[in-house]
Amino acid sequence: MSLRKGVFHVIATPIGNLSDITQRAKEAFAEVDLLYAEDTRHTARLCSHLGVKPKLRSLHDHNEEGRITEVTDNLRAGLSVGLVSDAGTPLISDPGYRIVAACHAAGLPVSPVPGVSALTAALSVCGLPTDSFLFEGFLASRVGARQKALTELKFVSATLVFYESKHRIVESLADMQAIFGDRKICVARELTKTFETILHGTLSEVRLQIEQNPDAQKGEFVVVVTGAQVSVSEITAEAQSLLLELAADLPPRRAAQVVARHCGVPKKDLYNWLLEQKS
Ligand code: SAM
Repeated sequence: MSLRKGVFHVIATPIGNLSDITQRAKEAFAEVDLLYAEDTRHTARLCSHLGVKPKLRSLHDHNEEGRITEVTDNLRAGLSVGLVSDAGTPLISDPGYRIVAACHAAGLPVSPVPGVSALTAALSVCGLPTDSFLFEGFLASRVGARQKALTELKFVSATLVFYESKHRIVESLADMQAIFGDRKICVARELTKTFETILHGTLSEVRLQIEQNPDAQKGEFVVVVTGAQVSVSEITAEAQSLLLELAADLPPRRAAQVVARHCGVPKKDLYNWLLEQKS
């Protein structure tokens, strides 16, 4: 490919397994005039693995604002400019949104070179409803702020996704169980790496497995938690029987949509209730 000039290319990189780099990302690394990286030493190692030597500049949370003029000037001068983070997709719990917003404001084109993210990798193996999810990124490290954030999420019916570090995985899971109750969860650890582990079950079951095994507390984590279940009492008996009858002839999503229009319960709650009846 010939990388378009004057465009800000947002390039995804692997989250562990280097073979997950895409063909387009490899080409972008080879062709870009200037590559902004969260940690230039880290990206230099990936470049040396790829056998390329792009011109690297740092762009992280502490200097992003100050880089805006430089990036937009380079784009106006017709350079092809790339952005990578240390791992996965830039802007997903990583720097970059301020620069992208500045490009939009200046009428400068932005283009993705999409690829891996721990977010979508974890969702793809979690076995929980993924038709609607809320990505919360990292919870606060302070206990009070973390518990407050979880309390605010208690009644969200979408599946919840969190990034977590080895320093807080045990405490965060304990807080989740105390606040959410014993919901189903999936903890995806070290995705795509040698010690990849996908634990699933109720919060109490998964917590036990992690707390009893120090090795299971190491590495990087994505925690996926089922959303709040609508109480069956909120779905009237009439709505339940209509839903079951329609589901005999229609796909579950469509049946839920029709009943939602009549009974005022959110479509997703009806859909989830229906799936529970079938499982
Ligand atoms: N931009 C990245 C992405 O697209 O996934 C995320 C960057 S964020 C600073 C780093 C966090 O992502 C880690 O603390 C962890 O929660 C999650 N993460 C990254 N790589 C992971 C992996 N291989 N397995 C599990 N979680 C991972």
